[in-house]
Amino acid sequence: MKIEKSERPDTKAGAGTAETPRKPAARKAREHVIRGIPVSPGIAIGPIFDTTEVPAEAPRRRIAADQAETEKQRLADAVALSRKQIIKLKSRLSILPEEAQEELAPLLDAYVMMLGNSRLLRGARKRIENELLAAETAVQDEAEAIAVVILAARDDDKAGLNRRAGEVREIARRLTRNLTATPFRSLKGVPEGAILVAEELTPADAALLDPSRIAGVATDEGGADGHTAIMLRALGIPSILGVSGLSESAMRGDQAVLDGSTGVIVLRPGEKALEKGRESLTAFAKERAKLAKLRRLPAVTTDGEPVELQANLEIPAELPLIAQSGAQGIGLLRTEFLFMNREDLPDEEAQLAAYTQVVDAMGGDPVTIRVLDWGGEKDMEAQASGIAPTHTGPNPALGLRGLRLLLKRPELLEAQFAAILRVAERGPVRILLPLVTNPNEVKQAREIYERVARRLRRKGVAMPETLPDLGAMIETPGAALAADAIALEADFFAIGTNDLAMYTLAVDRAEVDVAHLYDPLHPAVLRLMQFATEAALRLRMPVSVCGEMAGNPRLVPLLLGLGIRCLSMNASAIPRVKQAIRALDIADCARFARRVMEQSDPERIHELVMSNAPGALEKA
Ligand code: PEP
Ligand code: MG
Repeated sequence: MKIEKSERPDTKAGAGTAETPRKPAARKAREHVIRGIPVSPGIAIGPIFDTTEVPAEAPRRRIAADQAETEKQRLADAVALSRKQIIKLKSRLSILPEEAQEELAPLLDAYVMMLGNSRLLRGARKRIENELLAAETAVQDEAEAIAVVILAARDDDKAGLNRRAGEVREIARRLTRNLTATPFRSLKGVPEGAILVAEELTPADAALLDPSRIAGVATDEGGADGHTAIMLRALGIPSILGVSGLSESAMRGDQAVLDGSTGVIVLRPGEKALEKGRESLTAFAKERAKLAKLRRLPAVTTDGEPVELQANLEIPAELPLIAQSGAQGIGLLRTEFLFMNREDLPDEEAQLAAYTQVVDAMGGDPVTIRVLDWGGEKDMEAQASGIAPTHTGPNPALGLRGLRLLLKRPELLEAQFAAILRVAERGPVRILLPLVTNPNEVKQAREIYERVARRLRRKGVAMPETLPDLGAMIETPGAALAADAIALEADFFAIGTNDLAMYTLAVDRAEVDVAHLYDPLHPAVLRLMQFATEAALRLRMPVSVCGEMAGNPRLVPLLLGLGIRCLSMNASAIPRVKQAIRALDIADCARFARRVMEQSDPERIHELVMSNAPGALEKA
């Protein structure tokens, strides 16, 4: 059972507070270690300040037919109040660090949009009318129905689906609180240096935290990929989410040591745990200062070989993080974000605006824009509008996905090519084709590309003399084994190890039951990577790795040893990867890669790679 704690009312939300019973004192005395999900690194040592939101009391309620108009009006009032609250929150954003603003502003915009002519509100009004439900019941039912559809979508990006479902539920939660005049909690009273403990924290709550006052955050609920986690990282507050049982064990005023890197929180630490916490705090501060210095240093091996480190970008909100990371450009701009959460297609102008934002932000560093990698049941709304295929066959991952879909619907590719060609005047860009399996697909895409370029030139659109390079993702075994043929059609390769491992090993990236078999270090995957890399290098064609492997510092010796000199990864991984590169010697890496490639046992490969700290290579 969860124990409710005292609440401070939020004046804008209405009246009422709930004073709650204190937890039994017996729990207080002993040191207690609990584990959660580490979401934002750093050490916090300080007193616990617990705050839990009193849930809104909104039992399911039916109405009489003649009350439908009144309920719709109540809903309209709650919508107006919710909009006002969010707009007020937006006006406070300017006091937050830039990265946090960049994370939260688009989220608040999405909230405001959901409070406009959205599916949620249209559906809730219909439920009031047709099912004779009270406004709060109608909102909750509709939000849940939408969340279920989102979560059922077949999409590799499960975290993205969870986030989108969370956004809908968050708006329903706000509407319900406003419909029932239940107060929102206030986080203003958190004392300086405290560790905030709550059952759950919404992204909007996180936006109200002052990182200069709060030492750390720990909550019972939540995961590593939600907006709240992203916000806490952007704010730089050491945080752990998903610590089950935490708010039952933590008492206000208890000392605690929180480690946002390992996900451990020690409540009521003894002298030994406190001492260890203080040591970790000093070590973390030193490490952070070292990584910050790395930003300005080049990514070059001890024997002078430069390695290009680029960032992967999923949403423009990541741009400030990318700027801070010291990335030399964007190696993979996933354009799917442009096509999500909408019922129509982004036109050429909308795409141009988004690419312009990214290219301008990169200030002359190259940007590799991957055209839409969409397929299966990735976006239900788009399917409803007839944009994506509605039936995907028994194996959506083997169906109309990526470039296959674009070649079937060339108008999608044309609009995207046109927008990219138009942005090419502003800075260096390259175009990347997803899920290639056959050289002819690249050939067909290039014909469309050149046709679009000719049309734009006829219309007098300014474009660089030489068209931006057109590259192919190598992310299927077919593409890897046909890399020499594809290399004749493409200008560069980007090896997508996430899908390459999935298709090679026939293991779904998002399927829990077979997760233990998903292994990018499997010799079959490594051999395909080696084959494709060598095909590119023979033609002196640029080749990069842009799957998750690229961001793992332990894998850097192997990747460099295979001949890779360009890695594109999550921006936050760049400093550590750079640190690894700066300790390596290319000849050692080559020797090490040869040794790894001689192995046929995946376990032995893991042993070799994991035991291989930079510097230990000479022994390999
Ligand atoms: C990959 O498959 O490795 C890749 C980078 O593409 P995505 O993760 O977007 O499928
Ligand atoms: Mg992929």
